[in-house]
Amino acid sequence: MPTSGELDVEEFDCPRCGGTVTERFWGPCRACRDELVAAQRRDAADLEVGRFEPALHVVPNHVATKD
Ligand SMILES: [Zn+2]
Repeated sequence: MPTSGELDVEEFDCPRCGGTVTERFWGPCRACRDELVAAQRRDAADLEVGRFEPALHVVPNHVATKD
């Protein structure tokens, strides 16, 4: 069977959407990976927004100059 110059790739069904995937490593297809990454980024962004208050009241160091 002729190869298309790719490295060793496997063909399998995407565990997420069931589509045919041709990749070097088993896992979700590219579209699903993009979705998963996007979802993770969204979650991470939500966590950060919840954890960190907006730094609107940052006081500069020169407050300590009154002696
Ligand atoms: Zn998929």
